Parts: sequence; structure tokens; C-alpha cells
Amino acid sequence: MGKGGIMNADYILVRFGEIALKGRNRSRFEDKLIQNIRKVLKGLNQVKVTKTYGRIYVELSGESADIVMERLKKVFGLISFSPVKRTELDINEMKDTALSLIQQMNPKPKTFKVESKRSLKTFPLRSPEICNEIGGHILTNTEGITVDVHHPDTTVNVEVRDEGAFIFSQVVPGIGGMPGESSGRGIALLSGGIDSPVASWLAMKRGLLLEGVHFHTYPMTSADSIQKVIELAKVLSTYSGHFKLHIIPFLEIQKEIKKNNEKVSHNITIMRRIFMRIAKEIADRRKALTIVTGESLGQVASQTLESMVAINHGIDIPVIRPLITMDKLEIIAIAKKIGTFEPSILPYEDMCSRFVPKKPATKPSISIAERAEKKMDMEKLIESALANSKTITVTPYSKISIDDIIGIDE
Ligand code: ATP
Ligand code: MG
Repeated sequence: MGKGGIMNADYILVRFGEIALKGRNRSRFEDKLIQNIRKVLKGLNQVKVTKTYGRIYVELSGESADIVMERLKKVFGLISFSPVKRTELDINEMKDTALSLIQQMNPKPKTFKVESKRSLKTFPLRSPEICNEIGGHILTNTEGITVDVHHPDTTVNVEVRDEGAFIFSQVVPGIGGMPGESSGRGIALLSGGIDSPVASWLAMKRGLLLEGVHFHTYPMTSADSIQKVIELAKVLSTYSGHFKLHIIPFLEIQKEIKKNNEKVSHNITIMRRIFMRIAKEIADRRKALTIVTGESLGQVASQTLESMVAINHGIDIPVIRPLITMDKLEIIAIAKKIGTFEPSILPYEDMCSRFVPKKPATKPSISIAERAEKKMDMEKLIESALANSKTITVTPYSKISIDDIIGIDE
């Protein structure tokens, strides 16, 4: 139990942020949020999620507050939450509960204050009186603790409402952002690297419902590298409940690029241009309005502005690049925080490793790429890659057999 935690809490009070700004859409956002909270709490059968007076409560009915809060930490749109103890509307009971809350704290606070809100106006004591009564009770029954109204180590909050008195002090930060799936659908280009899962997570954090697209060159590269992407999708699914992944065979196309492109320095450019074309096709089919990638400006040769222009050329859909201004160390810090780092660094060879030229073009020419592409039967290649693709829905608990996936494109 963290600082200021409560034993046997009755509720978790959930606070949400930005959606309060959304005016007429507010209740739609709130409903989405409640739906998402219910999704992560699935399996904890006794808990109940309720909304009253614009607030969301998770009624614990004996479930552990820590287990519930661990799951709430994965819900986008939540600012913070607090374990709450409920008492009858009886000042003596309120005093004792506040006192035991302070006594349970570890480390022991040296200073405290009491704050009170009274939405039930018929309660006989007014807010300042409630604070005095409870504060006095704590001072009388503890040693070595004083009141500090400006910078207390802990604040005991007492809210007097119709349903009873709600007492809490611990405030646990949530991950923030917008409620999952409240901003529409996007297609994320998901490699097995460190960057694209972080980019995907950041886009999901702003409310995008993402579907991943992964290109692989099995059997030239191992099935493990596909399994790795499934593992990453699984980590992402712990934030959204599920994550759809389109797995696309790319070996044929890669061979065609090698055969038809004379400027080896442009191999990656052409490959990326075809990634985009296929992703755009999937976006259209899935009614997605954006493509998300893990590019970061200047990180590698194919991530210069010139490269991005060549890669985007002719693709009419906004491309979101959440990492574009981030340093590698910043990206790694997020990867560690969200749980994608470990699977990302598994040492499986990815499709590019044998395909990357010694000197990739940092200022690729669109006409060189187009010349090679004209020699390829692009439509047929793309059609066949899509026809041989496999779509799976990953959940935090799914067990997916890789054989079912690679069986397809042999
Ligand atoms: P990452 O760590 O995400 O692999 P990276 O730094 O290795 O990124 P690149 O290899 O240049 O960067 O890839 C740039 C972006 O292109 C990736 O972030 C990802 O969005 C996309 N991408 C690269 N390889 C694949 C792949 N095999 N399947 C799907 N998308 C890919
Ligand atoms: Mg990569």
C-alpha cells in the first residue's frame, strides 16, 4: 500500500481530465471512458463501475484496491484516482475513520490538514466545523504530528454527500490522455523495433483506435521475429483490451525491388514507399483516417526530411509521427515505462537487416524510385501481399500459434 493508502477501501474515486472540456460531446466521452474502465476490470467480478454527479467510482465490494488501481493505471483519459473509505453520516464515525487513515500511513506524516466538501447541505456541521472536529480528533490521538495548511505531508479529504461521508487522502496519478477509441481509427506501422510500439502507444493515448500492420520476410527471416511483434501487440492490448494486427508477407516484393532497382542506395526508400501504399490500402478498407509510424527526425538515413518526402509522395492520408522530435533516450524511457522495451530488444533479425544498403540515400530521388517501381507489377504484387496477409486480434491473454500465421504464405 502506498503513502496514504487505506486498508479495506470501499471505492476507488476516479478523476478524468480533458474530456471535461468537450462540451456537448462530454457524455459520449464519459461513456467511452466507463466502457474502457469496465474492460480493464474484466474478471474482477464483484467490482462495479458507477457514475454519479459527473464522477466515476469503482465500488470494490471486497476486491483489493491495489489490484484495481494497477489496472486503472492502463486506462487512457484518467488523471488520478483515490481509494476511498465510506462511513455513515455520523461525525464520530467520520473522525475515527480519518484518524485510522492517518495512523495507517507509512511513512508517518509529520504534518497534515483536513479539507472538507459538503454537498449534502442538511448535514448539521458546515465544512470548517467538520475540518476542526476531525483535525482536533487527529491531534488529540496522535503524537508528533502537527497541522500545516500550506504544505502538509498529507491531506485528509472528507466529502459529505447523500450516500455517506467519503474519506480519502492518497492520490495516485493515472496516465492521462484521451479515452481510448474516442478519436477515430488509425493504422500503425509496427516493426519489432523500439520506436514503433512507443509511437503506437502515444497515438493510442490521444484516443486513436489503432490497428497494426507488420511486414515480414518469413521464411528468409525467422518466425520468431513475427512472434516478437505479436508480443508487442499484446503489451499494447493491455491498454486497449485488444489490438488488431495485420501481418503481411513482403518477401516477394523485396525480391522484386532487388531485381528491378539499380540504385541500391534507394532500396529502403522503395520499400518504405510500398509499405505506405499497402498501409493506405488497409486504411481505406478499415475506414482508418491516418497512418502512424515510429520515425524520428534524423535518427537514420531513411528518416531525413528528404526521405520522408519521398516516402509520403503520392500517398494521400495524414501520417502521424509521434516520435518525430524525440531523442532515442527519451523514446527508450517511454518504452520502459509502458512495457514494450523488453520484447523490443529480443535479438531476432528483422526484415531490413539483409536488405539495407551499405550507404542508404539520405536525400533519395523520387524519380529513381519511380523508375524502379514502374518495372514492377505493383498492383499485382500488392494485391497478392494483401491476399496472403493474416489478420489476428491480440488480447492481453491470447495465446497465438505462430504456425497458424506463417502456414499461409508458404
Ligand atoms: P522501429 O524501432 O520502430 O523499428 P526504426 O528506428 O528501426 O524504428 P526504421 O527501421 O527506419 O526505424 O523504420 C521506420 C518506421 O517504419 C518504423 O518506426 C515503423 O513504423 C515502420 N516500419 C519499419 N519496418 C517495418 C515493418 N517490418 N513492418 C511495419 N512497419 C515497419
Ligand atoms: Mg526498425
